[in-house]
Amino acid sequence: MPLHEPGARPARAPGRVCLVGAGPGDPDLITVAGLKRLRVADVVVHDRLGAPALLGECRADALRIDVGKQAGRHPVSQGDINALLVRHAAAGREVVRLKGGDPFIFGRGGEEMIALRQAGIPVEVVPGITAASACAAATGIALTHRGLASEVSLVAAHQRAGAAGCDWASLAARRDRTLVFYMGLSQAADIAQGLLRHGRPGGTPVVLVSDGATPRQRALRCTLDCLASTARYGGLASPCLILVGEVGAMADPRAVVLAEAVEEVAKWAA
Ligand code: SAH
Repeated sequence: MPLHEPGARPARAPGRVCLVGAGPGDPDLITVAGLKRLRVADVVVHDRLGAPALLGECRADALRIDVGKQAGRHPVSQGDINALLVRHAAAGREVVRLKGGDPFIFGRGGEEMIALRQAGIPVEVVPGITAASACAAATGIALTHRGLASEVSLVAAHQRAGAAGCDWASLAARRDRTLVFYMGLSQAADIAQGLLRHGRPGGTPVVLVSDGATPRQRALRCTLDCLASTARYGGLASPCLILVGEVGAMADPRAVVLAEAVEEVAKWAA
């Protein structure tokens, strides 16, 4: 089937929601399946997207609803988003819920899927390229690598109030595990402290990637004992991913800047 069939509507039962992973910000990094769903949707519910160009792929008459957090505006609550999805699908519309990265990696896609199921709305999920894969690829780091890393952990550094928090002992236990921290820029000092306190060596390579896989990408390489100062003085912005592990040493020097200069700034600032 050709990718683009103007005006074509798939012969499906009306009224359903597709949770589509948009990928990390490069519009080329959505899947073919995701793009197909986007191009035929009646309603597209999206966040403050890394890839606004993707919205140009919607049908001209599609209803686009921005539920992302934006300065000066209250974010739409998760409950309200769930209700919105249910309402449009129940009215017989094809709804695409476009989410950054992969819908099921720290994207609250699970909550939306459950709410839709409970309301009796058919749900489909099209996976996306999560930030860990995208940032690793864009900086030349293999998340697993024979002899260096045989495990990967995707960790939410910033958790909701009252959550149990990170199990630092377990995260620090194995040198051959790559740790990828999402939502970690403002938590960098805690990440470093938690891992160092539980025995991860101070010389462990760390790579911080902001706006990964976009033209605005910036990546800094440092070591675990310099993570806090690099995050503080490195001038990186959100969204930012922090990769910790021996595989960080593989980073492509053309894509990643050594954070030594940042260390100098930190010394002056101290
Ligand atoms: N569902 C998304 C993650 C949402 S949580 C996914 O699968 O990628 C939001 C966090 O993801 C950000 O705080 C940041 O840590 C990370 N992130 C998302 N896009 C990113 C990008 N382009 N570069 C670096 N980090 C990114």
